[in-house]
Amino acid sequence: MSPLKDLFLYLSKSSIIQKFLSTSGPCKIIPRRFISGETLSVGIIIARELNKQGFLVTLDNLGESVTNKDQAISATQEYLNIIRAISTPPNPDVIPKEATSFGTITSSLKLTQLGLALEYQLCLENIREIMQEAKKSNNRVTIDMEDSPYTERTLNIYKTLLKEGFSTLGIVIQSYLKRSESDIRNLVPLGPRVRLCKGAYKEPSTIAFARKKDVDKNYLHLLSILFSKDALEKGAYPEVATHDEKIINWTSALVKKNNIPAEQFEFQMLYGIRRDLQQRLVKQGYRTRVYLPYGTHWYPYFMRRLAERPANLWFILKNLCYR
Ligand SMILES: Cc1cc2nc3c(=O)[nH]c(=O)nc-3n(C[C@H](O)[C@H](O)[C@H](O)COP(=O)(O)OP(=O)(O)OC[C@H]3O[C@@H](n4cnc5c(N)ncnc54)[C@H](O)[C@@H]3O)c2cc1C
Repeated sequence: MSPLKDLFLYLSKSSIIQKFLSTSGPCKIIPRRFISGETLSVGIIIARELNKQGFLVTLDNLGESVTNKDQAISATQEYLNIIRAISTPPNPDVIPKEATSFGTITSSLKLTQLGLALEYQLCLENIREIMQEAKKSNNRVTIDMEDSPYTERTLNIYKTLLKEGFSTLGIVIQSYLKRSESDIRNLVPLGPRVRLCKGAYKEPSTIAFARKKDVDKNYLHLLSILFSKDALEKGAYPEVATHDEKIINWTSALVKKNNIPAEQFEFQMLYGIRRDLQQRLVKQGYRTRVYLPYGTHWYPYFMRRLAERPANLWFILKNLCYR
């Protein structure tokens, strides 16, 4: 891991810098490239704009690692608001017709935002309430994957809710974790919707691949399991969440070779990253979903984006200077 990447991931956990940047007025423009705005209504406006351009969207209310029950309940309420807002039928003229059946706008959440670090049962009850609301409109929700102390509990909650019949729930798996192959193989019989990403946290080399080359290799290996005939027949829905062109090209070649229909998988990228590539995929007719965050708790999310590409810092400083 590069020293700068290390530094940004270390800073992403610093509550002092978080407090300073989040409360200082001028700093509010810092995260704009990656975040739609502070409120749900702004998030929805930008999501609908993206829909007009042919993108699917997943909305994320920024927040993680809440420290008390009230915060967890308030985050749950916000997700209920999101689901109600995105379940309202949009103007049919602006939405690609074929998009409506598989979630033009969906939502993504972090379990520590719903209280996982405080109490497992509280978190389970909160996400169950969200899924009960989502079920009414057949709305898809995806559980993001956080750092490794939460992996096992996150998977347990996902499996519990799938078994309770919340089939529109999906999960993220990270290719940098050595356990992920076994996790995916355990999930395949359940016909899971899996968003596969490389992984954005600092993890020890005892449990995670340290070299990028190995993370990428494992990504392709995990994709080949998710795209296998057996997994697709069981109902797996692979979501290829990366900006890595090599992996995207590899996936395109795989689906062509195996005649996998375009509606059996999707590509996903983060808002503000590789827009050129996002547009190219839409033009090529692939389902392409943009992960669109909104909210005031942008600091840890933003620092992880800097860790992925420290050069983003210069771009942001340049923008600040030219204001
Ligand atoms: C939809 C989605 C959901 C995600 N959810 C999670 C999650 O739940 N848990 C988790 O741990 N991680 C999550 N991630 C983040 C992910 O793990 C990676 O950290 C991130 O996607 C960067 O890796 P990459 O696959 O793009 O490949 P990389 O090899 O890191 O990057 C490939 C290329 O993409 C571009 N790029 C990548 N990152 C940036 C950036 N920040 N700024 C500018 N350009 C960039 C560069 O051109 C780079 O060369 C998610 C990613 C996506 C797309």
